[in-house]
Amino acid sequence: RRPAVLIGLIGEGVIPSLTPPMHEFEGARHEMHYVYRPIDLAEGEATEENIAQLLWAARRMGFTGLNITHPIKQAVIAHLHELATSARTVGAVNTVVFDGDRMVGHNTDVTGFGAAFDDAFGSDARGRVILIGAGGAGAAVASALAGREVRELVIVDVDLERAEALASGVRGSANGEVRAARLEDLPQWIDGADGVVNATPWGMAAHPGTAFDTELLSPTMFVADIVYRPAETELLKRAKARGCRTMSGLGMAMHQAADAFEIFTGQPADRAAMLSDLQTL
Ligand code: NAD
Repeated sequence: RRPAVLIGLIGEGVIPSLTPPMHEFEGARHEMHYVYRPIDLAEGEATEENIAQLLWAARRMGFTGLNITHPIKQAVIAHLHELATSARTVGAVNTVVFDGDRMVGHNTDVTGFGAAFDDAFGSDARGRVILIGAGGAGAAVASALAGREVRELVIVDVDLERAEALASGVRGSANGEVRAARLEDLPQWIDGADGVVNATPWGMAAHPGTAFDTELLSPTMFVADIVYRPAETELLKRAKARGCRTMSGLGMAMHQAADAFEIFTGQPADRAAMLSDLQTL
């Protein structure tokens, strides 16, 4: 008998997600009977009571684990028994695994961005890195960067309070300094920076353009985008034209799924094959 794996993805607007087919293709490569179902919450359904019921039902129905997305990545924590370091430092969970009666939360957005970043740019020590966007995905990026050798992480958001809250959240686990800055002060901070990461929705098909003035980029900088539909965003196009090293959001999307696959199954994911699946989905 093939090993049976049953996974769900709970969140709002999850039906078009590419994570379910990425997992099912990887399961098929391992000759598993791997079923991954999106569980879509309608607006207003993300209540504590519904979260508790869905976790209970998933466990009862023999699910192996769950991926968790917007808007319940934080709210789910109160219902879990244990958090892995990846989830604890960022205060958000995107992966829940059922271990008998216990539910354990992980955050593979954090580990996934970290792995993609290391693949693209190596794990050398860095000076100043600028993160643009302090929302849910920005928090995972900040946590991954804070855990690397980054001397100074500067978090910029149009909403300064959000940038400040994220900076104070990751400061305790950071190897270097972490500060929040206003978007208007970006020219001052980007001058002399090693690189920039975009974690805003700017660059998506539905949100064309760039979050900031790309004239500020210099050829010595690396430029990473976490937007992955399209893979080549306006920011990456302009950064390449200026001679910068770049990284698209595909690596993060693949590694977060691959890390979750490994947590769910205990089997090594074929990351090259998952990336190529993602590129053709
Ligand atoms: P979000 O709405 O929670 O956060 C976006 C943040 O960007 C907000 O805080 C907003 O104030 C800020 N912002 C918007 N415009 C800005 C600007 N011009 N300058 C500075 N800050 C600005 O969204 P999110 O959930 O964090 O996701 C952001 C994007 O990340 C998504 O649109 C998606 O494309 C991408 N994403 C990629 C992956 C992946 O695996 N590659 C995973 C999750 C999200």
